[in-house]
Amino acid sequence: MQGVEIYVLLLMATGGGWLLGRISSRRTKPLPRATQDIFHEYFAGLNYLLNDEPDEAIDTFIKALEVNGETIQTHLALGALLRRRGKVDKAVKVHQALLARPGLEPRLEDASRLQLAKDYIAAGLLDRAERLLKELTEGISEGKWDALPLLISIYQLEKEWHRAINSTKELLTHARYRRSKEWRARAVHYHCEIAESLIAGGQVREARRELRRGAAFQRQHLRASLLTAQLEYESGNYKGAIRECRRIAEHSPRFFPQLLDAMEMSYSELGREDEFIKFLDGFVEMQADPAALRLMSRFIYESQGVASAIRYLRKRLDAQPSLTAAAKLLELEAIANKKNHEVVGDLEKVNQVLSDILTARAGYQCSHCGYEARQLNWLCPGCQSWDSIQPKVGEGY
Ligand SMILES: [Zn+2]
Repeated sequence: MQGVEIYVLLLMATGGGWLLGRISSRRTKPLPRATQDIFHEYFAGLNYLLNDEPDEAIDTFIKALEVNGETIQTHLALGALLRRRGKVDKAVKVHQALLARPGLEPRLEDASRLQLAKDYIAAGLLDRAERLLKELTEGISEGKWDALPLLISIYQLEKEWHRAINSTKELLTHARYRRSKEWRARAVHYHCEIAESLIAGGQVREARRELRRGAAFQRQHLRASLLTAQLEYESGNYKGAIRECRRIAEHSPRFFPQLLDAMEMSYSELGREDEFIKFLDGFVEMQADPAALRLMSRFIYESQGVASAIRYLRKRLDAQPSLTAAAKLLELEAIANKKNHEVVGDLEKVNQVLSDILTARAGYQCSHCGYEARQLNWLCPGCQSWDSIQPKVGEGY
């Protein structure tokens, strides 16, 4: 059994002991039968606990701890603890027993229903949890504002984006959440989810409208900006695409490389390739990014030849040593020395080693839970946080 669980149960046991002591000290008559039963079950539970039989101990303690005005908070704490320890069925029993109690104060009834909904979510019974939470959110009690975030997280799991948006709108009317950047950002993500599927279906105008609705929650939103840039490029608004790409390069440079192709093509469509190369050169100076560096050296190689590209990479290596620059340099040296087969063979082998290291290092990682992925996820599958996954570009990239 985990240490915390033992601690809490012992605390309860001690509290129970104190309570019983108090009861008995007030009485001169023999203890009534009900109190004797509690004594019996309390010691039986303690015995199970000391014999390291946690399940029996928990059952006995639940039985011993009569539900009354003084013990409801203890029951709620015990239920939450059981759920955290993975004993969801027992947590459900505790919370159902609370709700079955007649005359429960409305505030405590709400708290018990909320806890029961959390048990159902933990057990994967989303329908039951949704039903309970809807009842709470349709009411007028304060419990509504604790239930709404949970209901939204269920809609999120079920990818019910329209419902998630409506509930978030409602949540943001409450003073507790009104200024919450996190909830506003979430609402934009929900609109982005809808916009992405519209873009995939070729519904550009509808997708643009969806992004505008999202902007009402938060104006600067990285994912919405990336989608806008993509949308402008795909609909032939190249100037608009370039403007959005430049904004992302300035405010979120680690995410900008995703737009390298769209930006290059946009400049190309406008016949302004030189401007793009100048911009890219400046970006590589500022930002340690493998994709931008590879593209820049390719441009120099194609326009000025292999010797110029090698000179460029040597300069980059002096200014900011990186595996990407080293690998690219070896690749170009192999081209420059193509007549010397032995040297080319060696360069290719070393280049392969460096490329393997770079491939293994590439990808994305969650800054909250450390979850790693090859693809960008806006919602971390590990810890369910939005915007916590970042590209893994670091020193020596
Ligand atoms: Zn995470």
